[in-house]
Amino acid sequence: MNLENEAYRRRVRDFLATHVPESFLADQPDHAPPGLEACKEWEAAMHRAGLAGITWPEAYGGHGLTLREHLIANQEIGRLALPESVNSIGKELAGPIILAIGTEEQKRRYLPAILEMREIWCQGFSEPEAGSDLAGLRTRAVRDGNGWRITGQKIWTSGAPRAQRCLLLARTGSVEDRHRGLALFAVRMDSPGLRVRAIRQMTDKPGFAEVFFDEVRVEPEDALGAPDEGWSAAIRVLAIERATNRMYRAWRFENELRHLISACRQDPALSALLQEGSYRQRLAATQVDIELVKGHVEPTVEALLDGQSIGARGSLMKLHWSEAHQRFAALAWEILSQAPPGASAAVRAAQRRFQDIYLAARAETIYAGATEVQLDIIADRVLQLPRGK
Ligand SMILES: Cc1cc2nc3c(=O)[nH]c(=O)nc-3n(C[C@H](O)[C@H](O)[C@H](O)COP(=O)(O)OP(=O)(O)OC[C@H]3O[C@@H](n4cnc5c(N)ncnc54)[C@H](O)[C@@H]3O)c2cc1C
Repeated sequence: MNLENEAYRRRVRDFLATHVPESFLADQPDHAPPGLEACKEWEAAMHRAGLAGITWPEAYGGHGLTLREHLIANQEIGRLALPESVNSIGKELAGPIILAIGTEEQKRRYLPAILEMREIWCQGFSEPEAGSDLAGLRTRAVRDGNGWRITGQKIWTSGAPRAQRCLLLARTGSVEDRHRGLALFAVRMDSPGLRVRAIRQMTDKPGFAEVFFDEVRVEPEDALGAPDEGWSAAIRVLAIERATNRMYRAWRFENELRHLISACRQDPALSALLQEGSYRQRLAATQVDIELVKGHVEPTVEALLDGQSIGARGSLMKLHWSEAHQRFAALAWEILSQAPPGASAAVRAAQRRFQDIYLAARAETIYAGATEVQLDIIADRVLQLPRGK
């Protein structure tokens, strides 16, 4: 299948070349991480230019194109060192779930607000006693007239302090019901009884939090799917999303690798390291890893365009990109930390970028399904190994 659409690629590339604010780019020496308002403005502009909601129907603010264009746009976005979306949960998780199980009224109300950056979403799934095994979650939703009341606690909620909505997974049945009796809600973050408490991360980036619910009222129009169906529908969507979200990753990693090498070339001590056999080999292996991540993406897009199911492919991809990126981030930091005192502005800018990348990569093998859990899925579904006692 031909995944190319040259005219579309040219349009995307031209838009980005002329509109991305230079200071947004993390591979530029004068890079200054943009604040929340600047990110929202930029992402709204990307949407107006056709670069968000690419595959969503036009009736809900999308652009009605296919995954082929989504892939091309992501390749072009990944080539640049742009900041990550501040509304990725809205665009890559809540939006697709609402498209799959929301009512017509919900689609018209929530989806344009996500794309226009009027509503930022966070994801309230994990709890102190339920992470990999979400079936153990205890936050309860009980009937309150025609709506619901939520009581419980979520943890590791990325972006909660800036969010207007939480995609909440809560229990409508008993804990023994495991995955049955779990429902999804679109909870307003300004609801009475909802409290956000910040968690400090080692990257020192703001936005990570615990979220507490004390009898929080949810109106009937904010319940997503039927009480017992929301979870299974969400899981179907999540399997596809795990394979297709942040599709720009491989191209972003390539940008990081190029940045690392060009910063090293500008410093005699680091340049000497690039000539050492072991570093040459590890950098070459990084390029191979990047090509393998690309090699996961393109067939996945082809399979989905062809209407096929992707099975455990999402787990293979998640495992590979996160492990590969963590290895690369450690290598980059090992090299850059050997720069002598008084290094150039370009080297110091690379050190700042790669220190952040190194620290953030520690979490990449945990969130969206930890490495051990992905290996378990592959052992089960790909190799069909017998389960131990
Ligand atoms: C930076 C970051 C951002 C996050 N953002 C969000 C968010 O926005 N919303 C949200 O809901 N959650 C979020 N999470 C939470 C994330 O989804 C969980 O941390 C993850 O699912 C793991 O759950 P846990 O932390 O409870 O660890 P546990 O599930 O307790 O796992 C602990 C260890 O045991 C291993 N393990 C668990 N089960 C098995 C098994 N069956 N076989 C083998 N090994 C196993 C795991 O691999 C891990 O090494 C975020 C996490 C991080 C680090």
